[in-house]
Amino acid sequence: MAAEPQDDCLFCKIVEGHVPATIVRETETTVAFRDINPQAPTHVLVIPKAHYPNAAALAAAEPTLAADVLREAQAVADEDKLESYRIVFNTGAGAGQTVWHAHAHILGGRGMQWPPG
Ligand code: AMP
Ligand code: ZN
Repeated sequence: MAAEPQDDCLFCKIVEGHVPATIVRETETTVAFRDINPQAPTHVLVIPKAHYPNAAALAAAEPTLAADVLREAQAVADEDKLESYRIVFNTGAGAGQTVWHAHAHILGGRGMQWPPG
């Protein structure tokens, strides 16, 4: 639950500049970068610089930081001129979470189905 950088965390390494990423936006508290395996024309991940294992843990510990992530999601959508987009927080392995550092997927630029797969 710690907000300290985790040695074994890929996204902490991206925050620290130790792993390259296509960064599209950065604020004092967040980084947004393109997903390496895009599922839509726009597929950007917005992460808090601080390490939390998932979105709920982030919101419980630092609600204003969770709000920063949501604000940046809209900024990404504005930059890519998306009228509609989807924000996804996969939480838990059964929901498809593979990186245990909170991140919002911003998906747009194509039609979206509901319910999601
Ligand atoms: P999740 O499965 O919700 O935990 O999302 C993790 C996302 O991180 C996946 O969509 C991956 O494609 C993406 N990803 C993994 N490694 C990298 C990387 N080095 N740079 C950018 N995106 C990555
Ligand atoms: Zn991390």
